[in-house]
Amino acid sequence: MEEIILGTRKVPFIVLKKAIRHSYLRIKPEGYLQITANKRITLHAIDQFIRRNETRILKELDSRQQMLPQSKEEAWVFGTVFPVKKTPVLRKEVRLEDGEFRIPSALEEDKVPQAIEKYYGKLVADEARKMLADETKALSQTFNLAGIAIKTQRMKSRFGSCQTQKRVIKLNTVLGRFDARYLHAILIHELVHLRVHNHGIDFYRLLLSYVPEYRRLRRELNRMVKTIGV
Ligand SMILES: [Zn+2]
Repeated sequence: MEEIILGTRKVPFIVLKKAIRHSYLRIKPEGYLQITANKRITLHAIDQFIRRNETRILKELDSRQQMLPQSKEEAWVFGTVFPVKKTPVLRKEVRLEDGEFRIPSALEEDKVPQAIEKYYGKLVADEARKMLADETKALSQTFNLAGIAIKTQRMKSRFGSCQTQKRVIKLNTVLGRFDARYLHAILIHELVHLRVHNHGIDFYRLLLSYVPEYRRLRRELNRMVKTIGV
């Protein structure tokens, strides 16, 4: 992989040469650039092409750098990072207490991921219910909020789902890691499904009237999940 200095950063890049006229630049989730360009492009021209996009690249990479990977040492709770601490307590619940993400040392190692997901599940469900309660006035003009059940689950392929008949909204526990506005966007998306089942024009019209920045939030969420690999 080649490297280029942009600002104070060494940014790796690869060049894919093809029979195309224009050059394209993608910032990969792994933090390198992928340039697709004409077969005969020179290294100098590539260099210039990247530099023309310098502002965008640095802005994007900077915003990603704030997205620290989840680790054994750090846990994110709605976008804030907390130190992970093993604590000698008998109860087998994960808790956020006194600025620490506490994992009981009594918990067997193989049960830790499950306990963490249980923590996020409750966190996400509680916050989603609170959001619905806080916005009841605005939401109830469009939605019947009565008898909606909020459930959570660690899902691999989607952020939420809506069983319209049973009126169950299921939210991915992964949403407990990021700023709560992402959870809000997904919650409203699923809520709109109670009115519109597909993802057509009517669906987006309604969704965007409640969450105007939905598309951007969704893109950011996709990217964060990919980058972090949670
Ligand atoms: Zn949907």
